[in-house]
Amino acid sequence: MNYLNMKCPNCNKKIKLDKKYINNKLNCIYCGKEIILKEIKEITTETYLDEVIRVDKAVILNIYNKNCDNCKKLEETLKEVNNEYKDLKIVKLNAKENMKLVSGFMIRAVPTMILFLNGVQVDMRIGAIDKNALQRWLSMYNLLPSNY
Ligand SMILES: [Zn+2]
Repeated sequence: MNYLNMKCPNCNKKIKLDKKYINNKLNCIYCGKEIILKEIKEITTETYLDEVIRVDKAVILNIYNKNCDNCKKLEETLKEVNNEYKDLKIVKLNAKENMKLVSGFMIRAVPTMILFLNGVQVDMRIGAIDKNALQRWLSMYNLLPSNY
């Protein structure tokens, strides 16, 4: 699992990248264009305002727990999507370690994704949805993969 499967945001070809290059700039082996591997940052109650609310773009807050299989499944999907959407930021928040903050969202289960647009909470999705469903959800808010 040291590799990340993704599509190049420029030429849409499938590429496999070594995870040690996350947060480095790379060039696509097919089209030569630059790819920036984004990391899904772990946030906390302390960093929530700066990482989610004071952000001038779309943010998915993924609320998860350790040892939750559906959370792991969703995170793999989110890793792919994170690198295919330049204008989207994805962060994750451990529910058990941030109970007070998480209780304010009134979520019923993990994983739950909350979508913020320019710091405003606009929508919520519960469960490990697949990549197609995730892309359909994002397209409702005019969020599209970067090559389109
Ligand atoms: Zn490419």
